[in-house]
Amino acid sequence: MGVRGRYAPSPTGALHLGNLRTALFAWLQARKENGAFVLRMEDIDQPRVQEGSAEEILSDLKWLGLTWDEGPDEDGPFGPYVQSERLRIYEESLQILRDQDLLFRCYCSRRDVREAASAPHGPGGVVYPGTCRHLTADEQRRLQAQRPERNPSLRFIVPDDRVAFLDQIAGDYAEVPARDVGDFIVRRSDSLFAYQLVVVVDDALMGISDVVRGADLLTSTPRQMALFDAFGVSPPRFWHAPLMLDHQGDRMSKRDGSDSLALLRDQGYKPADVIGLLASSLGWVDKGSRLSAGELLEEITLDDLRAPSARPAPSLRSEKL
Ligand code: GLU
Repeated sequence: MGVRGRYAPSPTGALHLGNLRTALFAWLQARKENGAFVLRMEDIDQPRVQEGSAEEILSDLKWLGLTWDEGPDEDGPFGPYVQSERLRIYEESLQILRDQDLLFRCYCSRRDVREAASAPHGPGGVVYPGTCRHLTADEQRRLQAQRPERNPSLRFIVPDDRVAFLDQIAGDYAEVPARDVGDFIVRRSDSLFAYQLVVVVDDALMGISDVVRGADLLTSTPRQMALFDAFGVSPPRFWHAPLMLDHQGDRMSKRDGSDSLALLRDQGYKPADVIGLLASSLGWVDKGSRLSAGELLEEITLDDLRAPSARPAPSLRSEKL
């Protein structure tokens, strides 16, 4: 099918400069390889979705000149491109795992897992110690009766072997999921499908060849590769792009909205200013450059994409233009 890239934002607030930089990165990679670009709205975690955010994200990306071939507003052969409209597909994917005996019900709360004496910490956080993996039906009934109001979550049984891959930016990365994360949740106790499951199902069914996303998801990748394997699908290539840090050196968050495009637009920024800021923050163009996304695409090479030099957040002009 050739190269197919995607950007998969969660509509939990306005995109900040760091999110926009990752979107630009993903778009450049797909376009540089003459591939298709897919926009997928990851609104699976409904309690965190903010009203109006999905529309704002689409219009921000368009304003920047990032175009997609398939997406919520651009029908294609692998839709729908909004996760909340794909629940039946996720349900069916669980059945594929169930048929291979790769799922079990887990009655532990997050706190139970944290407090399980033997649970050490791995790169992805607390390691699930396997508490509910081998429960008998009687034990399950007893645990359910202890907390009748709480539904069990569903966990995926991870393989024992080492999962290794070559990240196109971050280089070699490996984990032993059984040691580093343990069996992980694919359906939460509030019945929502978990990110780790739906992202793999969607990337697999949408024929995604290249996943470009923030480096915070590097440690999720071995888990996702284990799922790809269970579904019998070869995993895509991964490009984990450096995260943009704020001036205190902290990860940017969507919460304060201080870097939303709406605010920059109010200050008089044009798309070429923002593309210039984002590209110079990765060392692709000189500071102060103004250029369109299309011009940037002409200017850079795939090697540039593989070797971004992460610099601190670009400084924004405070005065009104
Ligand atoms: N929806 C996720 C986010 O906005 C990104 C998932 C991914 O790219 O795999 O953080």
